[in-house]
Amino acid sequence: MASSTIQPITSILIANRGEIAARIIRTCKKMGIKSIAVFSDADRKAPFVKAADSAVFIGESNPAQSYLDIDKIIDTAKKVGASAIHPGYGFLSENVHFAKRCAKEGIIFIGPNPKAIEAMGSKSNAKALMEKHQVPVVPGYKGKDQSLETLTKAANDIGYPVLLKAVAGGGGKGMRIVKDEKNIEKAIQAAQRESKNAFGDDELIVEKYIASGRHIEFQIFGDQHGNAIHLLERECTIQRRYQKVIEESPSPVLDDDLRTAMGDAAVKAAKALNYDNAGTVEFIFDDSTKNFYFLEVNTRLQVEHPVTEEITGLDLVQMQIESAQGLPLAIEQNDVKGNGYAIECRLYAEDANNDFLPVTGKIVKFNFPEVDGLRMEAAIESGSDISVFYDPMIAKIIVWDKERSAAHRKMAYVLKHLVCLGIVTNQSFLQTIVEHPDFNKGIYDTHFIEKKIDVTPLSVKSQSSIALSGIAATLSAWQRRDEKRHLLRSLPSGWRSNFYQPQQETYSIGEDEMLVTYRFQQNSFSFSIGDSTYQVNLIGKENDTLRLEIDGIQYHFVVVQNGNHFFIQNEQTGNITLQQKDRFPEKAVEKVKGGYTAPMPSQIIQVLVKEGQAVKAGEGLIVLSSMKMESTLEANEDGTIEEIYVEAGGNVEAGFLLLKMK
Ligand code: ADP
Repeated sequence: MASSTIQPITSILIANRGEIAARIIRTCKKMGIKSIAVFSDADRKAPFVKAADSAVFIGESNPAQSYLDIDKIIDTAKKVGASAIHPGYGFLSENVHFAKRCAKEGIIFIGPNPKAIEAMGSKSNAKALMEKHQVPVVPGYKGKDQSLETLTKAANDIGYPVLLKAVAGGGGKGMRIVKDEKNIEKAIQAAQRESKNAFGDDELIVEKYIASGRHIEFQIFGDQHGNAIHLLERECTIQRRYQKVIEESPSPVLDDDLRTAMGDAAVKAAKALNYDNAGTVEFIFDDSTKNFYFLEVNTRLQVEHPVTEEITGLDLVQMQIESAQGLPLAIEQNDVKGNGYAIECRLYAEDANNDFLPVTGKIVKFNFPEVDGLRMEAAIESGSDISVFYDPMIAKIIVWDKERSAAHRKMAYVLKHLVCLGIVTNQSFLQTIVEHPDFNKGIYDTHFIEKKIDVTPLSVKSQSSIALSGIAATLSAWQRRDEKRHLLRSLPSGWRSNFYQPQQETYSIGEDEMLVTYRFQQNSFSFSIGDSTYQVNLIGKENDTLRLEIDGIQYHFVVVQNGNHFFIQNEQTGNITLQQKDRFPEKAVEKVKGGYTAPMPSQIIQVLVKEGQAVKAGEGLIVLSSMKMESTLEANEDGTIEEIYVEAGGNVEAGFLLLKMK
């Protein structure tokens, strides 16, 4: 497909948000291209908005009214005279209408040609095209006849276990494993229903389920002159509910022959599509047979692209911009060399101990150690608010080192010292995976997390960790009061001497309470917590960091406060949140009999019932959405709806009373 002229790009509108917007802006700066951010209400103060050369408000926080609104994005691009739009990933990045609209308006879409996007939009068409071009695909059925008999027969012929997939699915949604014949009909019907609801299309494909599978993908790159290459693999097998959590490269299971075979298949896929930008060919790799099969092509930049950048030394965003301008690829396949080893962890605002539900709130403090080879791609900074509207991924942590083991060790170190306080994150969950011996040895499949990672102990902190945190919280507050005291030297005498009397603070941690008694004597503090006593010297305090010597050992704590919550971080104790008990405690929120409350901060998508309506146990009451995750609140028992306190479109905090039932 030899095209034509070079179209210069002098300014780029970034139709995205968060870390990926910030990432694209960085390359724009490097290339001397003007960057234009667009932002919603919730993102007004976000770091990516500040980083851009200019920033334009485009609407309400709900993505449909801002980042997904094609008209608004195109109008803004025309108004500011942007020569190109970079869609990032998610949002409009794989929306063929958007890509076509850009072309129609004379704006360069930084991504592949619309035909390639369209061809890969359906899982069945994608597989058919790949088969035609001799790319191995997972054995299965992808026909137009979607009758129950045909799908059932297909599953029986393939042999169990099988995987049902929504043709229009994505992001790990719309998949269902069926283990044996007796459940197949029910499963097909349920998958069709789910798929219709989620994607507006109930077409399914049936695949052989690879029980011990690894997800290995190849970065591909093409230009408008018919060249296509691959930029090696990324191992993305560490997943939770089919969504990637950790990615690394090189894969611990590929030898040179396999790498060449898979890379060739990836390039074949790229050529089949006349591929002319960045893309990813995903394969499922069967650990038991070493066979690999095409899964899909993602026609965009991938979340985990930094892993490839770290080992190849290439700037993928720059390459995307160059390809979109019509420039030929600056490198050939033989120029692509992997150097060392890279790993990425996705930091999420979610609670591993509460079924990984997304968490919202304020990040009071965010910082990380300076480590050679660490690359932090953050969507946040200290003071950022995490809202209900967007994906809960708040940062990507990428490290590079010469050897796999060294990179793993470094990642564990960074996770231990990363300070992200104010809300619950998956930090210690990531740490547990990265330190797991099987992960280190490279022995894992896509079920590693459910099989090997127990999340319960993550929340159970030892008594000594909690006590150390209590000391840190108490002395952080003491130091703050002491600073004030020095400013107010004219206080009546006796005030200070009073202070030498034993003092007390009570904190709660989860359900438990901790009484901390302490007194100041001869330049040091004696603490008594439970049955233990501690001799503590306050060595120094600077902003939020506190250095304490406790029974002869020095510790470094970060302590931040938000209202009566203390968030404490220390290498040994991890993150601990203590709530200081008031002398006059807040009146506890009354529990309402028959009341249903929001389990997390959410947006109300749909109210499924009416006042006065009789409902049965298990019936859906209200559909809630929090950070892209939809859930339906169900009735616990039979009854009648007495009162409803919310309506569709509203936003509620966790614990908000939604409705009452009799
Ligand atoms: P999506 O488009 O929703 O991301 P994919 O087809 O890319 O769906 O698959 C997502 C994940 O599901 C894969 O990374 C893999 O873990 C698992 N998976 C998909 N197909 C199979 C299969 N045939 N056998 C085993 N696991 C599979």
